[in-house]
Amino acid sequence: MLIIGPPGSGKGTQAERISERLGVVAISTGDIFRANVTGETPLGIEAKEYMDAGDFVPDTVTNKMVSDRLSEADVEDGFLLDGYPRTTAQVDYLDQILANRDQKLDVVLQLTADDEELVARLLGRAEETGRSDDNEAVIRHRLDLYHEQTEAVVAKYAERGILSQVDGIGRISEVTDRVMLAVKEKQAA
Ligand code: AMP
Repeated sequence: MLIIGPPGSGKGTQAERISERLGVVAISTGDIFRANVTGETPLGIEAKEYMDAGDFVPDTVTNKMVSDRLSEADVEDGFLLDGYPRTTAQVDYLDQILANRDQKLDVVLQLTADDEELVARLLGRAEETGRSDDNEAVIRHRLDLYHEQTEAVVAKYAERGILSQVDGIGRISEVTDRVMLAVKEKQAA
């Protein structure tokens, strides 16, 4: 499974909840990058400047990281990717990884929300967590990138008939209910 959504749409929160309910491993590329930044690893040092600017970490770096993570034993029976793929080149790369493993995507969830709602949410989160990429200029840049690049990713999965769009506005538990319903509908289809 994949979960895709603009910054601030709650995909990390929903990914954790889906992971608990379905017993599937959730992998967040943003979390892996942040852990590497905190640990000051070479990957973290390389990723930090892009993340702080709200830019995508280059595909070559991100793809290698995902490929390494997906070669671990805990994902053999399936996984939920949160925040990847974000570019059409990443879609192609993931297609190759999955083809090599004889796996296929069952469902791609897209959380939707209005830009102004997202900016307000993220400015609130900035006060709580102090994430270095949560200031207004960077937030707007991340939203622009989502519209310019990641919506093309969503369109690809829509063409394949595996996309499910879920309204991301509302209480966390309400959104989880909608997400779980969407997953069940896709599984039944
Ligand atoms: P997130 O926590 O998903 O919002 O990701 C935080 C930041 O990590 C993003 O703004 C990017 O700088 C970087 N990042 C996460 N996933 C990707 C990806 N699939 N491709 C490129 N950069 C990514």
